[in-house]
Amino acid sequence: MPIAVKDNILIKGRRVSAGSKILANYTAVYDATVITKLRAAGAIFIGRTNMDEFAMGASTENSAFGPTKNPYDSERVAGGSSGGSAAAAAADLALAALGSDTGGSVRQPAAFCGVVGLKPTYGAVSRFGLVALASSFDQIGPLARTVDDVERIFEVIKGRDENDSTSLPSKVSRSNLEKFKLGVPRRFLDQGLNSVAADNFSAAVSSLAAAGYEIMDIDLPTVPYALAAYYVIMPAEASSNLARYDGIRYGAYFPGQDLFDDYRTTRGNGFGLEVRRRVILGTYALSAGYYDAYYAKAFAVKQAIASEFAAAFNQVDAILTPTTPAPAFKLGERLADPVQMYLEDLFTVPANLAGLPAISIPSGRAANGLPFGLQIIAPPGGEDQLFQIAKRYANL
Ligand code: GLN
Repeated sequence: MPIAVKDNILIKGRRVSAGSKILANYTAVYDATVITKLRAAGAIFIGRTNMDEFAMGASTENSAFGPTKNPYDSERVAGGSSGGSAAAAAADLALAALGSDTGGSVRQPAAFCGVVGLKPTYGAVSRFGLVALASSFDQIGPLARTVDDVERIFEVIKGRDENDSTSLPSKVSRSNLEKFKLGVPRRFLDQGLNSVAADNFSAAVSSLAAAGYEIMDIDLPTVPYALAAYYVIMPAEASSNLARYDGIRYGAYFPGQDLFDDYRTTRGNGFGLEVRRRVILGTYALSAGYYDAYYAKAFAVKQAIASEFAAAFNQVDAILTPTTPAPAFKLGERLADPVQMYLEDLFTVPANLAGLPAISIPSGRAANGLPFGLQIIAPPGGEDQLFQIAKRYANL
């Protein structure tokens, strides 16, 4: 199977830049565990795919190497941060691609490009050899044109890895529920959906109901705060992970007047605008005077969201939402306003905060031809359920 690989997953002897000038000429010295496993299964790695710098973004416009365009409309973004992987799979440049998802970066570009994208349960896939963004959320996930191909790759890459202490043993039990109960968090969805996307989502829910699924409204009262909590915790972890790019240990070096100035000059020149913004936000949120006010509160919200999902899964087997508030937007449209860009992640970040598996599957097209994505979220270890529902939906 010829596979394209996001620019933040290490392949020994090949360049890995994470979309950043600071790693522009950096060559990986070992294989990521997912690469070792796929290689052993006979996969061929045919190319690197473009991404937002260090996976920070929702449009691939934050890449130091230029944006990725949407194969359905070249004036629009492919989504991000795994925009290159989604575009490669959609345009048939590769049979499948690997991406990474910290807050939606596999699912959102999959939705924008009309392909299938899976964010596995936190810990289901080893992060060894993935350039770290926010370690408590990051997961590697496959993108492909069919649910079968995504499942096939997941089966190969999943499982416990002694090089990643957060990785989990693969679940052996295969769920085979004849009749699933699906939950719809209506009040949450009403907040952020545009009307075309709302109509598309209602049609998707109706066709699942017609196929025999029981649909039930559920309430997730804290989930509307997921985005705010994510944009505190994620920059905090990122600021710590990115401290290693100091001009000495890895990648580019821009000399200054003395050691401190070396750091400042290297990081000031090597990192793009969005990365610098998040490092500053993250170090601020973690600083002694503000830790309790921001990081500790955001962490409490994260815990509350995880409990709400756990309670919801006592009532339903899986949860449905649209993947994004609207289809792909125009290149340049959101660059001036980072908050508009962050709002793209409204429906995808809750699964990362709670560590849940979630899949985005193609769900029809808008009048102008742009694809919609339907997101299905399952309890931890529920990837089989996701594949089962997704395959059924694809055949309706
Ligand atoms: N769009 C989100 C962000 O900018 C998600 C990124 C990701 O999943 N890597 O952080």
